[in-house]
Amino acid sequence: MAISVVTLGRLPKYLRILKKMQLENINNVSSTSIAKELGFNPIQVRKDLACVSKTDGKPGVGFVVNDLINDIEEFLNINKSKDIIVIGAGRLGQALMNYSGFENKIRVVRAFDVDKKKCDNKKIFLMSGLKNYVKKNKISVAIITVPREAAQVVCDKLIDCGIKVIWNFAPINLKVPENIRIKNEDLSASLAILLNSY
Ligand code: NAD
Repeated sequence: MAISVVTLGRLPKYLRILKKMQLENINNVSSTSIAKELGFNPIQVRKDLACVSKTDGKPGVGFVVNDLINDIEEFLNINKSKDIIVIGAGRLGQALMNYSGFENKIRVVRAFDVDKKKCDNKKIFLMSGLKNYVKKNKISVAIITVPREAAQVVCDKLIDCGIKVIWNFAPINLKVPENIRIKNEDLSASLAILLNSY
């Protein structure tokens, strides 16, 4: 089922609190309690969950937490492990590599950089090894955290290696062919929206 980007953006939030409930050995949950926990509209939550869940929340019982987690993970395609690489092991690249808040099957496995001094040959490697690694390990997702001036060249290189999905943090709108999925994160744009949305 196709759902809106806004709904898609809410699903990881549901997942986060469902996983917290799972750790607390809570077996069932109603859409109303999920809505309350997140400060969302209960009708919205019911609609969202109806889009992704194969089971209904039974009246008086609610959803089975484990089943709902599985359904959302399956829907988001994060039920299988996904290895991601980072290009540019500077401040942001290293922060993303060390970030533990991605879904547990999504792992930032390796970073590549042009700067020999940054490479420890454990997690950070020279760019010269990029193509071989991507092909051998069938990597399809990459994060770009290089300076703006280097980003388009890095992007083209990634596509040439076989990368299909790019998450770009450099402040530039990268040009990619139609078959490549890209998200350009733009902190200035987000801040402009925030400051002007009163
Ligand atoms: P940084 O200078 O700390 O790191 C950049 C890294 O990219 C360096 O290790 C450098 O050696 C490497 N690099 C340069 N050219 C390369 C190339 N051609 N191929 C591979 N590696 C290359 O910078 P940063 O602060 O981590 O920021 C990285 C990017 O993210 C920038 O475009 C910046 O504007 C953007 N950004 C940074 C932040 C932040 O909080 N630091 C936030 C949002 C966006």
